[in-house]
Amino acid sequence: MEHTALVDVYDRLSSTSSNNEKRDVVAEAFAESDAHLWRLVVLVRGRLFPAHDRRELGVSSRLTLEAVLTATGAPEDEVRERWRQTGDLGDAAAWAVENGGQQTLFSETLTVGRVHDGLRELADFEGDGSQGRRVDALAGLVSVATPDEARYVVRTALGHMRVGVGEGTIRDAIAVAFLDGGDDAVSAVERAYQVTNDFAVVAETARDGGRDALAELDVELFRPIQSMLAEKAESLAEGLADAAADGRVRYEYKYDGIRIQVHVGGDDVRLFTRRLEDVTAQFPDVVRAMERGVTAENAIFDGELVGYTPETIAGDDRTPVVFQELSRRVKRESDVEATSREIPVVVHLFDCLYDGETLLDDPAAERYERLVAAFDSVEPEFDDGVAGLELATTATVSPDDPDPAAALYEEALERGHEGLMLKNPDATYQPGRRVGRLLKLKPTMEPLDVVVVRAKYSEGRRSELLGRLYLACYDAQSDELREVGRLSTGYTDDELRALTDRLESLATTRDGRLVEVDPEVVLEVEYEEIQSSTEYDSGYALRFPRFLGVREDLGPADADTLERVDSLFDAQ
Ligand code: AMP
Repeated sequence: MEHTALVDVYDRLSSTSSNNEKRDVVAEAFAESDAHLWRLVVLVRGRLFPAHDRRELGVSSRLTLEAVLTATGAPEDEVRERWRQTGDLGDAAAWAVENGGQQTLFSETLTVGRVHDGLRELADFEGDGSQGRRVDALAGLVSVATPDEARYVVRTALGHMRVGVGEGTIRDAIAVAFLDGGDDAVSAVERAYQVTNDFAVVAETARDGGRDALAELDVELFRPIQSMLAEKAESLAEGLADAAADGRVRYEYKYDGIRIQVHVGGDDVRLFTRRLEDVTAQFPDVVRAMERGVTAENAIFDGELVGYTPETIAGDDRTPVVFQELSRRVKRESDVEATSREIPVVVHLFDCLYDGETLLDDPAAERYERLVAAFDSVEPEFDDGVAGLELATTATVSPDDPDPAAALYEEALERGHEGLMLKNPDATYQPGRRVGRLLKLKPTMEPLDVVVVRAKYSEGRRSELLGRLYLACYDAQSDELREVGRLSTGYTDDELRALTDRLESLATTRDGRLVEVDPEVVLEVEYEEIQSSTEYDSGYALRFPRFLGVREDLGPADADTLERVDSLFDAQ
């Protein structure tokens, strides 16, 4: 398949904002795609590796710019200017190919295979000179690209396609292309994705074997499953009532650590985060604890990995370290053993998803029994580099008698944890879903300082006021602001009037009722939680943000960073 055909798909996707049209464009491309289907699935979203694959392209915007300049011979200041104007290095690359002065080498026609494989190869370059080789390889692709192709090659390299295709679009497109496209078909595709986390596998299975084959896609050891997510309980009483089944609720400490999915198969242990990243190499102490404690031959566990201070890890009254400290262990590539002694950990297991057979459709109470049977606790042995392994602190209560749960909530907070989880004993494990059978109770989240980058006039009573503010955090790595959501509540009319005047004075461009502004105004906002999102270029969306005040003392570079949003997201 020629790459220009894919460029045509991208262009059609960009030219519509209708989700249904996007779905149909992608479905048509999938249906016509023959042996390239899996590559196409990957390229349409611009994600070259599944989340649990540790490989990364290792391509920064600076490296990409260098490749574009090398390939096209366009003057750097002009390409930078285009980049600044459009905010998109892909558009700047298209301009550079068109105007760069270097003849495009039409001797080679780009194919989908060449673009996909050529970009994936960038991840394999290692060691000295690897950056230079990446520049050369990327320049090689750009030098044979038409302007339109260059736009998308660059966007794919950077992982921002700007065509508005999220996971939902891919899911629905697979259902339309290879099944009947109805609600049941969408659910079948979604379920298959939640257990495999790989749309390429799902699309090929749907094409080759239809719905029956999709249903057979099941949990597989060493392929992470999406974690079941929790909803917020407004109060203990409400949470207990909502999570009850037959007058019983299980409640547990909500630990302040990292969600960890543990896969054990024979002698192998692998650890995955909630974002499905493989972090086995970072936690040799946890691997040892699993080797020591797990009695089942094969198992997949769900749990929370918590860091404690070295002084307290051995006792009964452990002090957890703050999440930022623990996340140092996740990022660590070298001196892993030494860091494991600085920040020793305990894994608190709370669920079992597989013990030789899949348990996803079993009730939580049954999974819990299987969990208890599948391992023995391990005391942390700090000197020998062995992590602790134990059950999460848990009990069962009737919602009519909430006192023991209230006591455990207080105890969890006193011990430095986050609150309580409330679990419906009948609930099946719903990967990747927030279905209200798993509830969390905790005090509200820490506020964020964010920059206003765009604003829109409200409808109705406040139609004279810029009542919808697009908020961004600061990406220190690329020195760019990245949107994290839209704010429309929490201010009084007077506050909003003052903000409107201020933002109007900063306006740069206008599109109907939408105004782009110089990013000067920093706001403090609170919110219920951070969700992952394809709508904003940070990859996150603040849920229910509320205005708390203007941070006059802060400039845009002082805003909270993407890194902090990352860690708050992980810590939820
Ligand atoms: P959320 O991320 O909003 O779905 O909130 C649930 C998070 O709390 C999970 O992702 C876990 O990382 C964490 N957590 C801490 N303790 C527990 C527990 N006992 N059961 C389930 N999740 C827990």
